[in-house]
Amino acid sequence: CGIVGYIGPKQAAPFLFEGLSKLEYRGYDSAGIAVFDGNRINVEKSVGRLNALEKKVEKALPVGQVGIGHTRWATHGRPSDVNSHPHTDCSGRFVVVHNGIIENYLHIKEKLVAKGHVFTSETDTEVVAHLLEEYYQGNFEETVKKVLSEIEGSYALVFLCEQEPDKIICSKQDNPLVIGLGEGENYIASDIPAIINHTRKTYILSDGEMAIVTKDSVWVMNRQGVPVSKKVFEVHWDA
Ligand code: GLU
Repeated sequence: CGIVGYIGPKQAAPFLFEGLSKLEYRGYDSAGIAVFDGNRINVEKSVGRLNALEKKVEKALPVGQVGIGHTRWATHGRPSDVNSHPHTDCSGRFVVVHNGIIENYLHIKEKLVAKGHVFTSETDTEVVAHLLEEYYQGNFEETVKKVLSEIEGSYALVFLCEQEPDKIICSKQDNPLVIGLGEGENYIASDIPAIINHTRKTYILSDGEMAIVTKDSVWVMNRQGVPVSKKVFEVHWDA
């Protein structure tokens, strides 16, 4: 339901919590964050309010300067800790948050289970993390393109890969996604109020686009990788 992401020189977790709180008005049943600590991606998630997650991590806030967060409005799988996002593959190297519905997830899940993937949640989203693991051969961007060509449905998706922690990749189809352009840092959100305290320069992604976001650059392309030139949309209103 709500999505946020950060990459830059600051600690990610404080922004992830702040951004998700700005999206609370949309309603949700659980929340989670994933932060790369320089070595691996740590996921913390919990059913219930954002407060419940904050309590869970208050003694040891996940450390790191790259992270993504999510508040979930369950469509597939009841609200629970395991069904909360972010979702990971078996190895925990690929991490995904998702708004929307992957329509062909059952078909994909059967195929992946037959190949030995072990699923931990009842969500449609989890197949995306396992697909990344299945297809990854050393190139995060190419892997995401392959995954996007296989999934059907509506989504705003944001991906992290432990092997390539210098970038966040995201894409959208029928669900909103915005990139907030900073100086030496960049933001991702499902809606502008989440980022407006940090930057007013944005790219509003269109259906079928994906973006590769590093701390110093944002490359927008279509799902086949053909570059798209974006106009900066400047936000003039207050959240
Ligand atoms: N379909 C996904 C789920 O049930 C995403 C729901 C959402 O948009 O928050 O976990």
